[in-house]
Amino acid sequence: MAKASEIEEESNIEMGKPYFCTECKRNHTKGKIYKEHAEFARFEDEEENKEELELENDKKVIEDEELDEEIGSDYDDDAELEEAFHELEEMEEEPDYDDDAELVSIDGEPLEGVDAVKKLPGVGEATLKKLIKAGFGSLESIAYTPPSIIQDASGLGEKTTSKLIKSSMQKLNIGFKSAEVVWEHRKNIARITTGSQELDDLLGGGLETGSVTEFFGEFRTGKTQIAHQLCVNVQLKREQGGLEGTALYIDTEGTFRPERIIQMAEGLDLDHNEVLKNIIFGRAYNSDHQVLLIKEAASLIKEKNIKLIIVDSVIGHFRSEYVGRGTLANRQQLINVHLHDLLRLCDIYPDLAVMITNQVQSKPDVFYGNPLQAAGGNIVAHGSTVRLYLRKGKGEQRVAKVVDAPHLPEGEAVFSITEHGISN
Ligand code: ADP
Ligand code: MG
Repeated sequence: MAKASEIEEESNIEMGKPYFCTECKRNHTKGKIYKEHAEFARFEDEEENKEELELENDKKVIEDEELDEEIGSDYDDDAELEEAFHELEEMEEEPDYDDDAELVSIDGEPLEGVDAVKKLPGVGEATLKKLIKAGFGSLESIAYTPPSIIQDASGLGEKTTSKLIKSSMQKLNIGFKSAEVVWEHRKNIARITTGSQELDDLLGGGLETGSVTEFFGEFRTGKTQIAHQLCVNVQLKREQGGLEGTALYIDTEGTFRPERIIQMAEGLDLDHNEVLKNIIFGRAYNSDHQVLLIKEAASLIKEKNIKLIIVDSVIGHFRSEYVGRGTLANRQQLINVHLHDLLRLCDIYPDLAVMITNQVQSKPDVFYGNPLQAAGGNIVAHGSTVRLYLRKGKGEQRVAKVVDAPHLPEGEAVFSITEHGISN
C-alpha cells in the first residue's frame, strides 16, 4: 500500500483538495478511498463547471464524512476496516440481480466465466474487479477454492467470500448427486496416450483428464521423458490419442530439452515448429516461484487451450529449501497447498490433465519390501489421484507399476525409451 506522500508525488492530486473520481463517478474529499483512487482523479478547473462541482462537493463531503464516521476514522493500515468500507460501497451500489434467476444470457445460453460471476448476489463492480484480478473469473474457480485463499488473493472479507462460495456452489449444483451423474461425468473423461500401448492400458487408456497423475522413481527411470512425450501427444487429434490442446511445462530441475521434443515430434510425423509453439514453458527457480507459476497458469488455461500441465519435479525445490526436521511441518504444509492448487485446477477444468514427477528417497528404516518411497510422504500420496512407480528394466526398458489409484487394478507395464520417445 503506497503512503499518502508517495501518492501525492506520483499523481496530480493535492492532498486535501477534493477531486472527481472517474472510477466511482463521484467526488472524494478525504479518507482511505481518497488516497487509493488518486489515479482516477479529475479536476474540473473550467470556470463553468466550478460552481456545479462545488455544490456537488458540499454534498459529498457530508456523505464521505458520514461514511468515515460509520467505519471509524482511525482506519489507516487497518485492512478490516478498509474491507468494511468497500463492502459498504458495494451495498450502496445495489447490484441488479435476482437471487433465483437462472444464469442464462439473453439468447438463452448458460452464462459462463466472468458473466456468471457478475450475476452472483452481492457482486458489484468493485468486487468483480478484485475477483478477476485475483484469478477468480468463473463460478468453478470460486466454488472450489478455500475461503482463506480467495480472501488472501482478492482482499475481500470473510463474510463476502463465504457468501460468494456458497452461491457459486448453489449455481453449479455442487453437493450430493447420484452415482449415475458421477458416472456420466467419468464417462466424459478423456485420455492422452503415453506412446506405449502397455502403459496406456495400465492407466486405463492413457493419462486421464480431471486428475493429477504422479510418476515417481529413481534418477533416469524416464519421468522426464514421459513428461516430454505427453507434451507432444496432447497435441494429437483425439482419434490419435491426443486432446488437440496445448501443454504447460513447469521445469524445476532444468531438464526440459526442446531437442527431445523435436525428436519426438518427428517420430510422429508432426511439424516440430508447430509442436514447440504449443508448449508453454516455465522454469521455476525456487519453490515460491513454482507455486506462483501454477497460480498464474490458472488464468492461461482457457485462453491458451491448455489440456496438460506438467510439473517436473514437484518436490525438489521444497526438499532442498527446507532442510532439517525443524522445518518439516512447514515444508509439508507448503507442498500440501501447492498440490491442492493442482488438484483444484482439475476440478475447475475437467478436461485438463495434470502430470507431476517425483523423486524417490531411500527410507533407511525399512528392511523388507521396497526401501524406496516417493519424496514428500503422505501429503503427495493424498494429493495425486493416480500414482505410478517407475523402475529400470533391461537396456532402454522401463517398468511402471500402479501404486495407488482409486479405480485401477494393481499391475505393471513395460515400455521403452527410444530416440523417438516412449514406445512399446
Ligand atoms: P528421470 O526419471 O530422471 O527424469 P529421464 O526421463 O531423464 O529420467 O530419463 C533418462 C533416460 O532417458 C536416459 O537414461 C536414457 O535412457 C533415455 N533417453 C534420454 N534421451 C534419449 C534419447 N535421445 N534417445 C534414447 N533414449 C534417451
Ligand atoms: Mg527428470
